[in-house]
Amino acid sequence: NRRYRKTIIAGNWKMNKTATETRIYADQMKTLLPKAKWCEIVLCVSFVNIPTAAKSFKDTRLSVGAQNLHYAPEGAYTGEVSASMLKDAGTKYVIVGHSERRAQFGETDLMVNKKARAAVDAGLYPIICVGETEEQRELGLTAELVSLQVRAALAGISADKLRRVVIAYEPVWAIGTGNTATSAQAGEICNEIRATIRHLYGARIARSVTILYGGSMNPENAYELLSQPDIDGGLVGNASLSASDFTAIINAAN
Ligand code: PGA
Repeated sequence: NRRYRKTIIAGNWKMNKTATETRIYADQMKTLLPKAKWCEIVLCVSFVNIPTAAKSFKDTRLSVGAQNLHYAPEGAYTGEVSASMLKDAGTKYVIVGHSERRAQFGETDLMVNKKARAAVDAGLYPIICVGETEEQRELGLTAELVSLQVRAALAGISADKLRRVVIAYEPVWAIGTGNTATSAQAGEICNEIRATIRHLYGARIARSVTILYGGSMNPENAYELLSQPDIDGGLVGNASLSASDFTAIINAAN
């Protein structure tokens, strides 16, 4: 599968780490970071930490990501940050539609779509998050719901721009809970996501899209999850806060 698409291990620091802590982490990473090139490594940091992270990781293989953006190019949106500002500050990736933003900050599928489009239009690589709640899983709606979230997020994105899109399957019940999806559960839904992309864009493009799993991924379970044919990497919250745990997950992707 690596012949067709890249493997990505992305950390999501959420609202953690100051600039000083970011510099310390970067120094630790420089000694730990594997030389091998089997995957792309990304750290999604808070807005204020982007310049520090961009500077600290400048000479490493690690790319910097943001955790959100606003969809308007510029204007009267107090407190918001645009795609071009992120790009200019040294960001390559941006998380879009994380379940915490959907649940706590009212992000709808429509907003996720607008943000994903703003990101690709500005030359950023959006990591679009989809996933079901525990209730929705119990009702047997997971595959349908996730497929719908993917279709909504990708509406209006051309095949050409889809090359920059990464999808992250993150079951809400697995995030920050220590309850990882089994590799079979995660693999099945990632396969469903690829099938949805195949319907929309055709087999050749679907084969080239990187699909991540996220939700309590850690050094112990990473290898098993990453062995699934349709899981091309991970979006890692808690475990990315420790440079040694994050490195262990990167090594498990080899
Ligand atoms: P977690 O978070 O690894 O702490 O479960 C993953 C995420 O929310 O992206």
